[in-house]
Amino acid sequence: MERTGACVGIGRYDEARALYTSALFGSRERPTDERRTVHLGIDLQVAPGSAVRAPLNGVVHAFANNKAPLDYGPVVILRHALPNGAGGAQEFFTLYGHLSAITLEKLRVGQQITRGEKFGEVGATSENGGWAPHLHFQIITDLLEYGTDFPGVVRASERSVWTSLCPDPNLLLGDSCGAISSAAEQCGGNAARARVAAREEP
Ligand SMILES: [Zn+2]
Repeated sequence: MERTGACVGIGRYDEARALYTSALFGSRERPTDERRTVHLGIDLQVAPGSAVRAPLNGVVHAFANNKAPLDYGPVVILRHALPNGAGGAQEFFTLYGHLSAITLEKLRVGQQITRGEKFGEVGATSENGGWAPHLHFQIITDLLEYGTDFPGVVRASERSVWTSLCPDPNLLLGDSCGAISSAAEQCGGNAARARVAAREEP
C-alpha cells in the first residue's frame, strides 16, 4: 500500500456503520435478522488507479471478482508467513477489496510479491462493487472456508469473534517491525475458529 501519510480519507477498523444498506448485508431469507454493520478492515479513500503495494513479502493466495452490488468487486488475498518465535512460521493473510478489474488479469495464484511491490490498483466505481473509489484493507489470521468471500463487515453481536480473526490493520500500515510481529502473534486464530464452528452448529 502506498504510504501517503495523512492525505487519504480513512474508514476505521471495528467501526459500527449504518451505511450497509444492500441486501448483501442482511439476510435475504429473513429480512428481520440482525444486519452486518461492523467493519473489519480499514478503508483508504484514494483515486482510481492508485497503486496498491504489498506491506510485506507474500504470495498471491486467491483472487476473484465479486460483482454483487456493494460486494468487494475485484479482490485479492495475499498469504504471508512470519517467524513465530518457536522456530516455525505463522501464516496469515491480507485482503484488498474494490480493486480494478485489470489487476486480476495480471496475477496468478502462487505468484511471489515482495514488500513494496505494486500488485494492483484501486478500481473505479463502475467496477469496484459500486462504491466511491477506495481500498478496503484487512488482515485475516484464518480464512476459515470463506476465501475471497471472507466478510469485511459483520454483525455487532459477533464482533469479538471476528475481531479476534481480523486484528487491527493499522498493525501493518505503520512502519514498525514490532507492530508487524505483534500482528503475527495475534494470528493464533484457532480458538476463534472453534467458536465460529460452534456457532454454526445447527
Ligand atoms: Zn471497507
